Amino acid sequence: MPPKKKLTAKELKERDRERKRKARETESNEAKSERLQYLREHAAEKRKSMTEQEKEQDKERKRKSREIETDEARSGRLECLRDYAAEKRKSMTEQEKEEDKERKRKSRELETDEARSERLEYQRDYAAEKRKTMSDEKKVQDKERKRKSREMESDEARSGRLEYQRDYAVEKRQTLSEKEREEMHKQKKKAEATRLDNMPEVQRAECLKQKRLKETERRHKAKDKVLTIAEASLNFKKKCKDLPEFVCTVCHRLLWRRSVVVYKNSNYDFQHDVVKRCFASENQRETNPGELYVCTTCHNDLKRKRPLMPAQAVANGLQLQMIWRGDFSV
Ligand SMILES: [Zn+2]
Repeated sequence: MPPKKKLTAKELKERDRERKRKARETESNEAKSERLQYLREHAAEKRKSMTEQEKEQDKERKRKSREIETDEARSGRLECLRDYAAEKRKSMTEQEKEEDKERKRKSRELETDEARSERLEYQRDYAAEKRKTMSDEKKVQDKERKRKSREMESDEARSGRLEYQRDYAVEKRQTLSEKEREEMHKQKKKAEATRLDNMPEVQRAECLKQKRLKETERRHKAKDKVLTIAEASLNFKKKCKDLPEFVCTVCHRLLWRRSVVVYKNSNYDFQHDVVKRCFASENQRETNPGELYVCTTCHNDLKRKRPLMPAQAVANGLQLQMIWRGDFSV
């Protein structure tokens, strides 16, 4: 039999660690919380007897070990910290809670940009993870809670939150492809339209007014801005790419997006003969399969209480003549 190899101190340590790791895998929740409680108490006891320098070293050691930990270990550690914090908060008095909040606020003030963005990223990930497992009822409650907390927030907190949201949106947009960006823009528009639709009439009117004012302001600013040659040439190229691609289903003219509205049954009163004729299926023309648009001219004539036949409507029978471009000399 070969002599049993003597393990080095390092190997012994490694074996011990492995054994402990395995034991942790199978331990019950209760045993786990007991073990962690013990470890925490032990650590607290130890920290008390540490010098300032030792404390710093300890911090550094922890920081380093966090840098090399696996994703799994990280999420396990954070879960444990969360549980512990939740447990602790339960036993806190109101005053202690306030103090805790203040302590956190202060530590946030001192944190570096890097630490901040890391903290926020973690919070986002965690919130996204949590939302996935939420019931619909919980989601509604969560929304309500957020709405309430926004109502009570200070101006400073609000502007901070909005700034952060803007920064995050800008950052996120930069990582998107052209197509994804377009998709996001579409979704945003849709959400905005639904939001407006669900508003009380007075609030909606006010909102639209504000929007128009903002848009006018933006346009004025854009006009006053002195462009570099590169910017101007980019603008020109963009404008060249922008072709009229929308067909009015009533007059069949080819138009830009800004000159048409999406066709909606409810916009028009089909009791009137004019409306019936204009939107009769033989007169309709789709922009894309299933997509109907109406130019603002036709739309304004047809949505009236007493609809008018739009001058250029195909149903009006005044179709455009083909222009002869052949050789006249023959
Ligand atoms: Zn039209």
